[in-house]
Amino acid sequence: MLKIHFFGYLFKKSCDLFYFRFVNTYSNLISDCIICNGSTSFFGKQRDRVFRRCESCFTIFLNPAYFLSELEEQKHYECHVNDVKDKGYRDFTAPIWKEILKNHHKQEIGLDFGAGPGPVISEVLRENGFLIELYDPFFHPDEKVFTKKYDFIFASEVAEHFHDPLKEFMRLSNLLNPNGKLYVMTHLFEKNNRKEFENWYYIKDVTHVVIYHPNSFLEIAKSCGFSKFQIKDRLITLIK
Ligand SMILES: [Zn+2]
Repeated sequence: MLKIHFFGYLFKKSCDLFYFRFVNTYSNLISDCIICNGSTSFFGKQRDRVFRRCESCFTIFLNPAYFLSELEEQKHYECHVNDVKDKGYRDFTAPIWKEILKNHHKQEIGLDFGAGPGPVISEVLRENGFLIELYDPFFHPDEKVFTKKYDFIFASEVAEHFHDPLKEFMRLSNLLNPNGKLYVMTHLFEKNNRKEFENWYYIKDVTHVVIYHPNSFLEIAKSCGFSKFQIKDRLITLIK
């Protein structure tokens, strides 16, 4: 009787393993682009994480089979607490806060989307007299912020974590007043070089699941109601 149970157990395990491999392989084959729905093909691997790239807009994204769980993600972010007074951290985020100080005045209301445990940009802006709301699904989860409208929103090192980027960009677009601006800081990948991609430091972070190309933002602007956008190195500004 014990033998039957044991073989039954082995059979079930083999079926599970086969099913897991089948689902992974199959999903690697069929996933369409998460931004434009275009056809995709294998682009590279980082350890065992498989990335695909869209043949139309060149967005690169991780197969969802390799996403971390919410708990694993939170633990990862808790290890990256930055001091809001740290000069290096302030300098790193300067492209966003300098652009906001240049384009907006203190009466305008801003949202720090994906503020994280050390919201340095908000700190700099508050020191300059701005009123900034914070949202982060793990560290500032109060969803009341979604009942208001904003003149500007910023997301620094956040968009590359989006599991469903189109949904998030749509939500951010809907939160903006007419002519409002969305400032996004993320590293783009524009090369057609698989080896360079696989050795790139940016995909070594296991929570980075989408890598954008300038064409990704053409599609995002079109689908999410932005009238135009501009790219200056790591800073992408989308205008409602
Ligand atoms: Zn695409």
